[in-house]
Amino acid sequence: MSDVPERLAGPHHPETIAIGHGYDAAAAYGAVKPPIVLTSTFTYPTAAAAKEAHRTFFQSTHPDEAEFIYARLDHPNLRMVQERFAALDGAEACAAFASGMAAISAVLLATVRPGDTVVHTAPLYGGTLGLLNGLLADLGVRAFAITDALAPAAIAEAMARATAAGRLALVMVESPANPTAGLTDIRAVVAAAKALGRSSHRPLVVVDNTFLGPFAQRPLEEGADLAITSLTKYAGGHSDVLGGAVTGSAAALLPVRKLRTSLGTHLDPFSAWLTLRSLETLPLRAERAARNAAAVAAFLNDHAKVTAVSYLGFLAEGTAARAVYDRQCRGAGSTFSFRIDGGEREAFAMLDRLRVIRMAVSLGGTETLICHSATTTHYSVAPEVRAAVGVDDASLRISIGLEHPDDLIADLDQALGAIRPLART
Ligand SMILES: *Cc1c(COP(=O)(O)O)cnc(C)c1O
Repeated sequence: MSDVPERLAGPHHPETIAIGHGYDAAAAYGAVKPPIVLTSTFTYPTAAAAKEAHRTFFQSTHPDEAEFIYARLDHPNLRMVQERFAALDGAEACAAFASGMAAISAVLLATVRPGDTVVHTAPLYGGTLGLLNGLLADLGVRAFAITDALAPAAIAEAMARATAAGRLALVMVESPANPTAGLTDIRAVVAAAKALGRSSHRPLVVVDNTFLGPFAQRPLEEGADLAITSLTKYAGGHSDVLGGAVTGSAAALLPVRKLRTSLGTHLDPFSAWLTLRSLETLPLRAERAARNAAAVAAFLNDHAKVTAVSYLGFLAEGTAARAVYDRQCRGAGSTFSFRIDGGEREAFAMLDRLRVIRMAVSLGGTETLICHSATTTHYSVAPEVRAAVGVDDASLRISIGLEHPDDLIADLDQALGAIRPLART
């Protein structure tokens, strides 16, 4: 043991974890890459082994240590991707799901009970908001928004309002927010939750980290109880697989995993295999996409037909947002919004002229994607609500990929040329 150099004994750097962690070649004929284990059920050498597998899975605090039973409970590819993603996110444990929304639904449904309340940052991902305003509202769970997630007083005020209306079960944070890039001071939310816990129920603090991911932001290190990542976005990274992950302590994940078994919303073997492969290049992709995004954001910021760019790298020195960004984030990511001089007509004219950049919702893929938020991702959001979160007819969201930035800039430049000065009446 002692002659293993410190740097090889681990813990390893995230880039190294991303390549090999969670897979042991000895378990699969020495294959350098893992097999896809397509089986719905697993056999036991003895009846006692079957009993022991069930005891470990259902009664211990570490179901990951059980022999496999049935693929809805756990399966080899699921375990591999969970182990690797947990290590990347600095977590003790991870539960992987069939999608980001499956992960969010499981966390909410495992935590809240009828009559409880939820506090959340705003804006929230549409699917999360739909769940809060739909099923959870029907179950008697009321949601309260934080008006300024950078101000401890506003965070405490929202929690006080929620606590007055029922047991505050959970605080759902999304930072940076989509599409505004609004930041939340995660540590301030954690401190407020702890302070509340001294006199009443301490709410669980959950952070949706999809926009930055484990290489640019680690919510668990800021004190959050659970972090949620849509693996569909940067982690999967090729726009060809859906998935979601919840990370946290083994104890905090236990009820979430138990509910996943009931709902049957685990990640399937092929999607787990694709995601595991994608994680190998996540640090590389995230870094290049962020560099490309910085170049494109700078171009847009200087363009006469662009009126605003909500890129995290542009946060002004001396602001509360910049202070939280400097402390909490290790990069600006590569998805941001910008506003053009015009409205829907001008936005559509510009979008229809793009040749390299594709028009699609979603983000975090190798390809650059752009969408007109008001008529796509925020289609079903009322105009006044959209306006309040800064989404109007002039707003476009762009997720920068791995193409050469000069080609992206040239494409945007020629398309922005389609915007004629508004005929003002
Ligand atoms: C896409 C997304 C989700 C949902 O993930 P799916 O994999 O599409 O279910 C949740 N939160 C954020 C911030 C997202 O961007």
